[in-house]
Amino acid sequence: MSSLLVSNIGELVTNDLSLGDGSPLGLVSDAALVVDGGRVSWVGRRDHAPAADSVLDVDGVAVIPGFVDSHSHLVFAGDRAEEFAARMAGRAYSAGGIATTVEATRQAPDEALAANVARLVGEMARQGTTTVEIKSGYGLTVVDEARSLAVAADFTAETTFLGAHVVPPEYVDDPASYVDLVTGPMLTAAAPHAKWIDVFCERGAFDAGQARAILTAGLAAGLQPRVHANQLGPGAGVTVACEVGAAAADHCTYLTDDDVADLRDAAVVATLLPGVDFSTRSPYPNARRLLGAGVTVALATDCNPGSCYTSSMPLCIALAVREMRMTPAEALWAATAGGAAALRRDDVGRLGVGASADFAVLDAPSYTHLAYRPGVPLVVAAYRRGQRLA
Ligand SMILES: [Zn+2]
Repeated sequence: MSSLLVSNIGELVTNDLSLGDGSPLGLVSDAALVVDGGRVSWVGRRDHAPAADSVLDVDGVAVIPGFVDSHSHLVFAGDRAEEFAARMAGRAYSAGGIATTVEATRQAPDEALAANVARLVGEMARQGTTTVEIKSGYGLTVVDEARSLAVAADFTAETTFLGAHVVPPEYVDDPASYVDLVTGPMLTAAAPHAKWIDVFCERGAFDAGQARAILTAGLAAGLQPRVHANQLGPGAGVTVACEVGAAAADHCTYLTDDDVADLRDAAVVATLLPGVDFSTRSPYPNARRLLGAGVTVALATDCNPGSCYTSSMPLCIALAVREMRMTPAEALWAATAGGAAALRRDDVGRLGVGASADFAVLDAPSYTHLAYRPGVPLVVAAYRRGQRLA
């Protein structure tokens, strides 16, 4: 494999504290980086760059680590545009809308599910996302959860078994039996295709005892836990996430002071999903409170056909800055290095020496434009392991 010199970078975000200006973003101006064997082999000022087999001159624009979208639900069929329109006309969102997608997903052949994932992953790449986590959770039978994860595994190593998304209609009168299914035959069928296990721990979905049982069973099967927590109201999601050593607690809109302290002390990443709050006209989580307490914060899309049908990390950054009062620097870090932390990855979300050469080239002089110019397609190219994706 030949080496590539990416040169004439006006502003390079490395997320590497040993490089650049000493800020968490590790900014290097008038920079260059060298890709060799899919990894970053050199980073620094352009005038010190070594020679390489080929050169990509980006003409003075900003280059950032590819976005790490650590929370998405891409394996599904159908859409829920009518439900969205109804909600915008004043009807409140409830977890029950998922049943519509479950029905469509069960009826869809694998090829149709895979085509939909390919479409959305392509959309993400064109917006700078180079790593994506993909959950199951619209099959909710042994067969449909296993095939959902098998489809997802063709697109990413970050696959998550979410059989505990919602209790399906056929188990509404007997949720305990559904938990037995999730922790038994469904887990056995899902585990070969999954890295993670997740639970929607919320009133109307799964309570603390059920969530604990599901995550503990997942751990015993070799999966690592993550949790949908404290989205729709106060609850035990964060407590359970911290107890089981989850990588991340996602949503985190309704937190007590103890929840915030627990997240920090247990080193559980708080993943904020502002696209959901935007699309459901719900309150945003208090990012400043989390950051002020020293909690690691990630941003992700939660791309799904019900509560948030955006695949755009730049939109999430703009919302985080405008609506949650994160600084542009905090938001960019959360969308790259924060997402990597939420997936326990140290090879992505940064552009220091040794990192995977996953980066996005912006049609802008600075990463700040991602928030400053909301809705504008600023990502002109995305690379994974030095290969152009989009
Ligand atoms: Zn979600």
